[in-house]
Parts: sequence; C-alpha cells; structure tokens
Amino acid sequence: MLEIYNSLTRLKETFKPLHEGHVGMYVCGPTVYGDAHLGHARPAITFDLLYRYLMHLGYKVRYVRNITDVGHLEHDADEGEDKIAKKARLEQLEPMEVVQYYTNRYHRDMAALNVLPPSIEPHASGHIIEQIAFVQKILDKGYAYVSNGSVYMDVEKYAKDYPYGKLSGRNLNDIVAETRELDGQNEKKHSYDFALWKKAAPEHIMHWPSPWSEGFPGWHMECSTMGTKYLGEQFDIHGGGLDLIFPHHEAEIAQSCAALGHESVHYWMHNNMITIAGKKMGKSYNNFITLEQFFSGQHELLSKPFGPMVIRFFILQAHYRSTVDFSSEALEAAEKGLQRMQEAYARLQKLQAGKETTVEIAGLRQRCQEAMDDDLNTPFVIAALFDSAKAINTVWDGKGTISEADLKELREVWKTYAIDILGLRLEAEEGTNTNAKAFAGAIDLLLGIRLQAKQNKDWATSDKIRNELTALGFQIKDTKDGFEWSI
Ligand code: ZN
Repeated sequence: MLEIYNSLTRLKETFKPLHEGHVGMYVCGPTVYGDAHLGHARPAITFDLLYRYLMHLGYKVRYVRNITDVGHLEHDADEGEDKIAKKARLEQLEPMEVVQYYTNRYHRDMAALNVLPPSIEPHASGHIIEQIAFVQKILDKGYAYVSNGSVYMDVEKYAKDYPYGKLSGRNLNDIVAETRELDGQNEKKHSYDFALWKKAAPEHIMHWPSPWSEGFPGWHMECSTMGTKYLGEQFDIHGGGLDLIFPHHEAEIAQSCAALGHESVHYWMHNNMITIAGKKMGKSYNNFITLEQFFSGQHELLSKPFGPMVIRFFILQAHYRSTVDFSSEALEAAEKGLQRMQEAYARLQKLQAGKETTVEIAGLRQRCQEAMDDDLNTPFVIAALFDSAKAINTVWDGKGTISEADLKELREVWKTYAIDILGLRLEAEEGTNTNAKAFAGAIDLLLGIRLQAKQNKDWATSDKIRNELTALGFQIKDTKDGFEWSI
C-alpha cells in the first residue's frame, strides 16, 4: 500500500516520483453549471503554482484536470437533480450546450488568471464506458451491490479489509453521525454507502445505458476512472480543495482499493478555503462573487473592479494551507502590493549596472528556492522579492549601485520566481485597473451622449454611435434605466 503524504515539505529533497523524471498529477476540476468564482480560483492557482514549480525543477509533468459535467450532485448531497440537466430543462437547451458555454467561460477566466491549461482535460461525460467498467470491477470484487438499478459501495464490507476514512481521520461511527437522511436511503444497506451508479429518475435528462439501469455514474467515480486512465493505476499527486477530502477523496481511495486492490495516489494535497468577511461561501449567505464580477467590479461587496492579477496575487500572498478571508480592503491592499512589484519589475528592466554592488541582494535566489521547497511557501517568496524591490529602488534613486553580474542575476531571479513560477504578469498591461476604468468611463460617456441624442430625436447621432460601437465589437442593450454594454 502506498504511504500517503499530504504535504510537500522540503519538496526538492523528499519528493520521490513513481517514475524518475516524470510526475503525474490529477486535480479535481470545475463543475460546469455556472460561472467560476473565488472558490474555483484558489485550487486552480494553487495547482498551477505546483505545476509550474515541478516543471521548473525539470520534471516532465502530465497534469490532468477534469471537467465535471454529468451526474454531479451538490457536494453535500448524494441525490438530487443534476444541475446541468436542471438548467438545460428550464432553459430548453441541449445539456452539452450548457456544458460548453460554462466550460468556455471557465477557460476564459483561467486564462485571465494566467493559469496554464492542463495537459489533459477529460470530461466525465466522455468516459461513461470506462466508469461502467470500473463499477463492474468493484462489483466483481464483492465490495458493491445492486439495488433497484443503482449500484452502491458496500462500505461496511470494504472497511473490514481496508482502512476507510484514513485520509479524513473519520471512522464509520463519525460518518453515520454526519450522514443525513436523503432520498434513496431505503435502497442502501447503510446510510454511509455511496452511489457508484445511479438509476436515472424519469425527469433526469442526462443518462446512459448500463448493465444495471439507464442512469449515470456517481460523482466520485469519474475521478477514480479518469485519474487512473490517464496517469496509471498509481500516480504521484492528487489535489483539490479541502472540502473534497470527505466524502469525495475518501470515496476515491475506497473505489481504487476495492477495484484495484491498492491505492492510486501517492501524495494528496488540499488547498484551504476562502471565506468572505469571515463566512463560508455559500448559497445561504448569498456571497458567491464570480470572477467576472471581480473583474468588472459589479457586486455589492466590491468597492471597485479588481484585475485578474490582483486576484492571483491576493491568493498567492497566503500559504495554500491557510484560510484566506476575502474583503474589498484586503484586495485593495493586494492591489497596492502588486503595483509595488510591477513598479520594481519595470525599474529592474531599466537599471544601469555600476562598478560594484552596494545594495543588499545576496541570497535572493536561495531564499526563493527554499521557500518554494517548503511546501510552496509563496508568502516567503513574495517577501523575498519585496526585499529585493527595496534594493532595486535604492539603485533607481541613485543611492546605491549594482554590478553587471548582480544585475543579471537579479533579473533572472525575478523572471524565474515572479513571472515563471508565481505566474504573475508584471508587464505594463496590468496597470490596467486605471486603464479599464478610464476605458469604461469613456464608453459610458459615449452611450450617455447617444441616450441624450435619442431623447432629442437626433436619430443620426444615436445610430452612428450605436452602429460604430457595434462594428467595434460592443454589444449594446437599451434598458428601462438607460443602457448596458459588453464586449
Ligand atoms: Zn474529483
């Protein structure tokens, strides 16, 4: 059985991939039934950081991040209508239309955050055959049972042979106490048994044939199946948010052990959660802020728009295992920090070398390296870069000098750690907040003039503004209070 690690402390020395020089890494990706929010940004950025760092260390990394697009029920419920199906039913869309729409938007947001695309991005809906085969293996090994067309994991039987709950530190009694009565409980032997395959209710519009019923796979099944399909029966790293440890990842371990006789994952890594003004993000608090809302500033909890690099920097300022509390003030502080980095970076490119180095920059590369090795300690990397920013500013102000060799090294360290590993875009484009504001203000001004023209029945002016903006790619909508626009 693989030993489970759940941190990468002293990564460079202690991390041992299963295959020399290669790393297989699987991360639970988004459920594409709505726009990505801050809760999606954190795991995406955390594992992007790990991906970038492993590549920096010279590993060839195969990074698999899935798209959950079928049979995904709420994280806290085993039952209920698939969200994509529900949206499709309500809006009379083909379900894959909804999936594609939100997948495209997710990609757009990830690109804005400078999150690199994974090597493989498999869809659950594209792996139904493999999931059925995986369920059949578990049935063949005797760790699952069929009930009324659905297949359930026989957790009690499994727990006699394997340690169920080892990742989350739970035992069966804890789990019974946590499990709420839900629809379908009467089909199960025990409340803690989880679905490997679910018979579809008549209103469920995404379903596939299987040996047991016309239905869909249980949520945990896709990650066991696609992880092992693309990375092998055993692979190095599996990541996701802390909220996925139970039941999702615990169930994945059980599925692997039951089907394959051993665990699949060598290192589990979980990023901590983001709270908003001290509260969990949740429907009941009505505090989901989508990334698009951050970028546009259109949410009541936001004082202004925040660019994607501010979001990235804000998340990297905390260690991935710490909770992060979001507030507009905290983002404003992150924005100031990022601007200081951008300024230092711009100055660094323009600095002139002197005869000798009189500022303190020694050991910067080593500090960054050690911090990254210490379980991806990004706050320390950022602190080290800020210290060197002071030296850059001193030279810039003419109060110190830097030698040719040291200047070259300093530029290389910033390029490696700030740009390549932290993935910050520090070039001028991100002076953007001010630019974006000025831009939006100018469009609002133009459309205000158009509104005035319409009221004055000056159709020529009103049409000219509308047509020319439309030709430039703007979408303009008249509303009862005035207008809305987007690009
Ligand atoms: Zn997963």
